Amino acid sequence: MNFDNPFWNTIHGKCLACGTCTYMCPTCHCFDISDEVKGADGVRIRSWDSCMFPMFTKETSGHNPRSSQKERWRQRAMHKFKYYVDNFNAIACVGCGRCVMSCPVNIDIRKIVEDISKL
Ligand code: SF4
Ligand code: SF4
Repeated sequence: MNFDNPFWNTIHGKCLACGTCTYMCPTCHCFDISDEVKGADGVRIRSWDSCMFPMFTKETSGHNPRSSQKERWRQRAMHKFKYYVDNFNAIACVGCGRCVMSCPVNIDIRKIVEDISKL
């Protein structure tokens, strides 16, 4: 998986950034933390988040290191099939197909991985 390969320009075009694929995925685990205040009480809340959302990596300064859906999709694929393998010697995908069945625009991560493997 070459980070700078032009292949990454070809997979994200129809992605709606809806996040459904990540919410359906049994191995996706990204979350957000927020502090909420009510009167004199406060509570820290952890809620699901998605690397498919434009705001996911947006910093307080306004800078976003993954400012395009191309970069977000590359991260999703690289995380599951490259970085996770490098760090834990396993892919972060169990092959369940839930993301494929649920994607409203029929993006198929199996096809993406197959195509990448042929580069
Ligand atoms: S096929 Fe892989 S990426 Fe898709 S939902 Fe299942 S585990 Fe997640
Ligand atoms: S479910 Fe499909 S359209 Fe929605 S974020 Fe995932 S790949 Fe993009």
